[in-house]
Formats: sequence, structure tokens, C-alpha cells
Amino acid sequence: MSARGAGALRRFVRLEGGRYAEAEGDAGRLLSAAPWLGGVPTGESVPLEGARLLAPVEPSKILGVGRNYRAHAAELGNEVPAEPLLFLKPPSSIVGPGGEVELPPREVSARVDHEAELAVVIGRRCRRVSADEARAHVFGLTAACDVTARDLQKKDGQWTRAKGMDGFCPVGPAVVSGLDPSALGIRGRVSGRLAQDGTTADMTRGVFDLVAYASRFFTLEPGDLLLTGTPSGVGPLEAGDLLEIEIDEIGTLSVRVVASSEAGP
Ligand code: ZN
Repeated sequence: MSARGAGALRRFVRLEGGRYAEAEGDAGRLLSAAPWLGGVPTGESVPLEGARLLAPVEPSKILGVGRNYRAHAAELGNEVPAEPLLFLKPPSSIVGPGGEVELPPREVSARVDHEAELAVVIGRRCRRVSADEARAHVFGLTAACDVTARDLQKKDGQWTRAKGMDGFCPVGPAVVSGLDPSALGIRGRVSGRLAQDGTTADMTRGVFDLVAYASRFFTLEPGDLLLTGTPSGVGPLEAGDLLEIEIDEIGTLSVRVVASSEAGP
């Protein structure tokens, strides 16, 4: 992906049934595989209007970065860490556009927050790349929500349950390539109320720095996802909420928050 690629944006979606498509206006040009796995147009085209979209990625791993925006670190009483604070979310936490985020039972967590985040989609396998080299290994960008059980994050001392439950990683609606990630507006709405209103220009560490840093420790595979931290304004979700994450040029990811379906004790 090139920072000079403005004007050459390409949008990729995954349709119900699992087919990848490049979106061109109202049409989806079907691909033989995910574009970062060498998928090429099959020559078939389908209408996108009314099409149900799946999460546009199937990552082998999802990396997150804690406290990458100063104002968000401060709102929770934390410092910006000297080194990026990496964590993992399992692929089972992914939910696509129009999907549901199921809250855990109240006795497990009484405080589940939204965190609107820009997410990087890896395009080429990389290990120990520089920030400059990282550019050529990024396929594109999408929107995500790093859903977090805030009380469990404190209680557990590490973040596996707090950030890794089923449905805690809404992603989509599209992966956009050719987009400059350095100053994109990023917003989080809860049932229509604007809760988060930030810009990626306020990141402590930029997208390519983060990819380079993560690649020192983890081989990044095509389709892997790196969530880049949240701006300030995080807050609780309740059953029935409509959660919307909107990023300039990428679009709006909408999911519904629902109560736990687990039978009570
Ligand atoms: Zn986060």
C-alpha cells in the first residue's frame, strides 16, 4: 500500500457464502480467493445492494495495541507506554457487519466497553521488517471495535478474557487499499450518540511503526489483522445498543449489542 495512492482506492468485501469481491459502485466483481492471497477476478459480477456481508478478513491472528492515543490512556488513568503494548484477540472473536456482540452474563462482567479502532490488514508475510519495509507488506485498512470487558481487564491482570470473547472483534465493512492511514477521522456511535470522535493523526505510534514493531516478535501472515488502538471516549455498551464504527474512506461498521444467551446460575 502506498501513502501516495490517493485516488486509487480499491474496496474489497466478503459476501455471504464466503466469496471475496472487489466493490465497484453497485457491483461486486467476484475474486477467486482473498485478494491478499492472490485472488483474481473470475469474470462474474453480483449486485451488492441487499447483499449480506461477512467480516472482510479471515486472519490467523489478531494483534491489538493498548494505549496508543494519549487522551485515551489518560481517560483511564494510564500513561502511554514506552513501548507499544501488544495483545492478542482470537479469530473466534470476529463478527461481521450486521452481526451481534453478545454481552457476557452480568455476574461475569458488568462493564463492556466499545473501542473504535483502525485495523491494518497484512498483505505479505513479514518478519522483522523496518517501518519503511512495512508499507509494502500492508494490504489495506478496515474498521474494527476492540470490545473490552473493562472490569475483567483489571481483575484478570491480563486481557485474554477481557478482549477475546466471542463477538468481541467486530470488523468491516470493507478492506480499502491505497489509503493514507496518517489522518483519518474515526468515530464511534452508540445508538446514534457520538461517543468517540478522533483522528488517526493522534496515534502515538503510526501504522507502519506498529507493523514493524509487531513483526519483531510475530511472523505476520497475509490477512492478519492489527488493531491500532482507540481514541478517547470509550464507554459502556448495553443490550439493544446499535454500535457503529465509522472511519473516513472506509465506511461504517454496524453491529447490534445483545444480552447474554447463557442460562443463569
Ligand atoms: Zn483497544
